[in-house]
Amino acid sequence: MNSELEELYQEVILDHSRRPRNFGTLADAAVRVHGDNPACGDEIDLAVKFGDDDSLQQIKFTGQGCAISQASASLMTMKLKGKSRAAAEEMLGAFRGLIAGGSDDGSPILGDLRLLGGVRKFPQRVKCAMLAWRALDAALRQNAGAAVVSTEDDGATPKP
Ligand code: ZN
Repeated sequence: MNSELEELYQEVILDHSRRPRNFGTLADAAVRVHGDNPACGDEIDLAVKFGDDDSLQQIKFTGQGCAISQASASLMTMKLKGKSRAAAEEMLGAFRGLIAGGSDDGSPILGDLRLLGGVRKFPQRVKCAMLAWRALDAALRQNAGAAVVSTEDDGATPKP
């Protein structure tokens, strides 16, 4: 492992991958999204329950895969739980900007998620980091029911 890659596996990321937060199923979820990253073998199942005020009252995930994919999902759920839909969309945009963007360190609203910014140098790792967020994007668009997303496709495919 080279030193650049080692930098990716910082303590926070390893901690979240080993002890993911908000990990589990959500019996009364409004929307469930399965995300696949076949390039790395990562999988995420994201479940969201919206509150009466349309906030993300509950957000949980299960999954398996590399440290980056699971830590990104764990950090994402921590940041978004209880947040408004608008705040979630803002966070999604900020994270996309961080991962796809240039040299800046990302928006302050991202907090620890900025630790994942180093993946932008590794296109395969970008897919790992974005997997949970692609699932979130589908969950916010679809609002109810179930969907499947893949890092190899554009957009989400509603499940019949
Ligand atoms: Zn991965």
